Amino acid sequence: MNSKSQSIRNIAIIAHVDHGKTTLVDALLSQSGIFRDNEAVPTCVMDSNDLERERGITILSKNTAITFKDTRINIVDTPGHADFGGEVERVLGMVDGCLLIVDANEGPMPQTRFVLKKALEKGLRPIVFVNKIDRPRVDPEIAVDKVLDLFIELGADDDQCDFPYLFGSGLGGFAKPDMQTKSDNMIPLFDSIIRHVPPPVGDKDKPLQLQITTLDYSDFLGRIIIGRVHNGYIRSGQKASLIKEDGSIKHGRISKLLGFEGLQRIEKEEAIAGDIVAIAGFPDVNIGETIACPDEPKALPLIKVDEPTLQMT
Ligand code: GDP
Repeated sequence: MNSKSQSIRNIAIIAHVDHGKTTLVDALLSQSGIFRDNEAVPTCVMDSNDLERERGITILSKNTAITFKDTRINIVDTPGHADFGGEVERVLGMVDGCLLIVDANEGPMPQTRFVLKKALEKGLRPIVFVNKIDRPRVDPEIAVDKVLDLFIELGADDDQCDFPYLFGSGLGGFAKPDMQTKSDNMIPLFDSIIRHVPPPVGDKDKPLQLQITTLDYSDFLGRIIIGRVHNGYIRSGQKASLIKEDGSIKHGRISKLLGFEGLQRIEKEEAIAGDIVAIAGFPDVNIGETIACPDEPKALPLIKVDEPTLQMT
């Protein structure tokens, strides 16, 4: 029996560089009450990687989670650059919807096209956010028309072409359904995500399967795996099997299970199918491999992609 986790939404954010992903996520975080009044909102939440800063592009996917009206929205960042096509595909495989941010002035740009194409191929129906409407002489309605043209050109189906859209400003911290309405907050965007992004589908009664989407490292915990629980449950301390790319199996234990809350990772006892988690306990892992139940280890299909070369020239 399939169970739907009504209280979770998994969404990827896609945009051309500088169209305002970081600023928008900061606004969502600050308005979801994550930050205490006396705590400054850190800038560049999702741009914490040095290499990224140096190259001025978002390379590694980052996770954050925001709770709004009892729904946890897991937000994953997507690299916009074509060098990271493999990572884009994996990240998009972890979510059920995406938020496409487009600068009202510039309209869709090359990275918009690149990531949107992948999202449409995955069957996702994007929510479009026309950003930076606080700037003078913008015509956001034209930006929406250009986005629709791009959807059609990329072969979007009727449902995808009928995308929900909002106008707003990450910097100003507001979103609204049309240019006539007044708004001083992001509630319309939160509502739109909850309404239009389907809750994750996963079978919690099946044996555990989690696909490794991203790797991270902490001095304290060592190698950290980030991925979506596709089926079953995962519990802190449980025995689990790692199914390697060549089909061999390594046995281990989930030494730590972490969820996301704002910018923090918080320890969890358990997570169920549909959720995105971070786990420690498996030092020798590769992206794409599966963490599975030791009694019935079955791999999820590998996403075969060419990996980027991260050498700087
Ligand atoms: P990212 O590369 O997509 O993460 O873009 P950033 O969030 O870093 O934003 C790029 C630039 O656009 C920064 O200088 C921001 O201050 C600016 N910016 C972002 N959102 C807005 C907005 O809503 N209005 C205006 N006027 N500027 C914005």
